[in-house]
Amino acid sequence: MQAYIAAIEPVNVEWSKNICLKIFFAGCNFKCPFCNTPHLLETNEEFLKDLKDVKKEIELNGSFTEAVIFTGGEPCLQKPQLVELAKFCREKKIKVGIETNGSKPEVLRGLLKEALVDFVAIDIKAQFDEVNAGFKEVNNAEVSVNEAEVNNALFEKVTKSKTFFISTNQIIQDIKTSLEILHEYKDKVDIEARTIIVPSLLFRKEDVIKVAEIVNELDARWVIQRFNNMPELVEKNFEHIHPPSTTFLEDLKEACVKKYPKLRIEIK
Ligand code: SF4
Repeated sequence: MQAYIAAIEPVNVEWSKNICLKIFFAGCNFKCPFCNTPHLLETNEEFLKDLKDVKKEIELNGSFTEAVIFTGGEPCLQKPQLVELAKFCREKKIKVGIETNGSKPEVLRGLLKEALVDFVAIDIKAQFDEVNAGFKEVNNAEVSVNEAEVNNALFEKVTKSKTFFISTNQIIQDIKTSLEILHEYKDKVDIEARTIIVPSLLFRKEDVIKVAEIVNELDARWVIQRFNNMPELVEKNFEHIHPPSTTFLEDLKEACVKKYPKLRIEIK
């Protein structure tokens, strides 16, 4: 079997004391304007690799690798390849982590059901709501369809994920399902939610507090990440936006913890 894998690199990650091996799957179904891996968003032929060679590389690094982390791009888009590599790691007694945008709940469910992952990092890129009903209950308050549509419009702006084939509402529903699945497994795997604070997109206190509500329900560690204006972003105009200051991020953290005291927030 072959997979679109753009790179395999040893990295230091905080949840592991030893070196981990990151496997970068090529291809993503989102086009976040601030994404700093634009070269990983398409499945170019140059990335095609035989899984036998990928396994060899995992084995070669086995002596100093505590875990393999599947990232991207979006690794869940290549389900059979991802599952096969995760099973291989299990056989070799190497821990498995995955970094996902949460849009493929059935893949996540499969990995968790078969106990093939130890760590899941899921992006919660912006707040979202269900727009099905006239109103929905949030913390005993009714949120109108209009408000839900405003929230979902921001989600679309942050992810640029809708296409002719899939609506923003469907993507949001899929992410909600992923979060529900993760909540079910929260005592069995290490779960981390991640949100990037991007000036001009997701930065207003009221928006970040709405994301905090979602993370609070998930009951996971939450990493608030600083947007980084690196030279190669998906949208060039984001390269001129300054990263938020530490004080700004600390203020956001304080506001979220004030509203949801049980939140475990790290700023990076
Ligand atoms: S930041 Fe967005 S576009 Fe980039 S890999 Fe992650 S989900 Fe895909």
